[in-house]
Amino acid sequence: MSFDIKKIRADFPILNQKIYGNPLVYFDNAATTQKPKSVIDVITEYYQKYNANVHRGNYFLSQKCTEANEKARKIVQNFINANYSHEIIFTRGTTDSINLVASSFGEKFISCDDEIIISEMEHHSNIVPWQLLCERKKAKIKVLPFNDKGELIIEKLESLISERTKLIAVNHVSNSLGTINPIKKIIEIAHSHNVPVLIDGAQGIQHQKVDVKDLDCDFYAFSGHKIYAPTGIGVLYGKEKWLEKMHPYQGGGEMIDNVTFKKSTYNKLPFKFEAGTPNYIGAIALGKAIDYLNSIGIENIANYEKKLLKYATEKLSQIENLKIYGTANNKASVISFLIKEIQPYDTGMILDKFGIEVRTGHHCTQPIMKHFNITGTIRASFAFYNTKQEFDILYDRLVEINKMFNQ
Ligand code: PMP
Repeated sequence: MSFDIKKIRADFPILNQKIYGNPLVYFDNAATTQKPKSVIDVITEYYQKYNANVHRGNYFLSQKCTEANEKARKIVQNFINANYSHEIIFTRGTTDSINLVASSFGEKFISCDDEIIISEMEHHSNIVPWQLLCERKKAKIKVLPFNDKGELIIEKLESLISERTKLIAVNHVSNSLGTINPIKKIIEIAHSHNVPVLIDGAQGIQHQKVDVKDLDCDFYAFSGHKIYAPTGIGVLYGKEKWLEKMHPYQGGGEMIDNVTFKKSTYNKLPFKFEAGTPNYIGAIALGKAIDYLNSIGIENIANYEKKLLKYATEKLSQIENLKIYGTANNKASVISFLIKEIQPYDTGMILDKFGIEVRTGHHCTQPIMKHFNITGTIRASFAFYNTKQEFDILYDRLVEINKMFNQ
């Protein structure tokens, strides 16, 4: 399909509205993305016509939802090129997926004095679950640093890996800096030491083709809501060999095979990790969102977003007193910046009054802020439905704000 921006924008009803009398310019896509009509419609359709709990009822409605839920699993499997659909675990989101691994993999494979390597540019979701695990197990976290461009200092990885390294957990793309990390290289290095790798793909999956077989990652976690699907649904991809060995994350309905008061046995994959009533409507809607992305083509999306990022970076660089944080050579469409003498929060509040929605603050990455000795940034993050014209609206306001504060 050709990239028809007018048609694409028409697919997202929320974009066509005014905020405080101004056309909405939504630039907080790294926090959450807007939903195409096909995703919104399928949610209504299932609640209006087909809703029944999955994997339980031996009747039409339940079977319809079960089939749609399992079809969605296959859509995800194909989207990321996993070997098996049972390697796709539906979770609540990236945070939930990482906690699942920290809990289940951690329980089985991490002991006292073991080490987990993460990077300095992780979201808190890929820091705190490992800290909790390390507290429980008396294990240690080691941190791979980044340079001032916001690129991981990959040459340091080898020296951080030891006999005691049991897992490396890094993000695919930094939500604050936009850096696309060389995860294939990281995985190669890790595997040469027999260390498995978890990729936090919360900001990776929506900007480029992800092929878990080609990457050879052991785990890949992402959230539905950042890939044009609803909140409350996410994915943990895990290699069968790990998932088979890991203990269940939570106990409850669906994840069991046989229950007695003496002992319970567990269901097969993926259900072993999906205790309780799952968010099947969310999963079905995630499948629709991926269908939608496939109809446009993830490569087309990546190309379009790259052009938008280049345009925005070049223009922002012209603003005197404006500094961009995160200038890696390989970036996704996320730009963090500050204007001298202006608190990011104030800039955000002014922009909001003009209908421009950007994020301000530490973006759940306090260690990144500490690295640069700042408290937060303004972050504009673009999706494929954003345009250069929208960026120009932001640019003009930033020029005015800069004049207002810095003259
Ligand atoms: N990791 C990264 C890199 C993120 O950007 C986010 C969300 N901002 C998360 C993890 C957590 O995602 P969620 O809140 O959807 O679980």
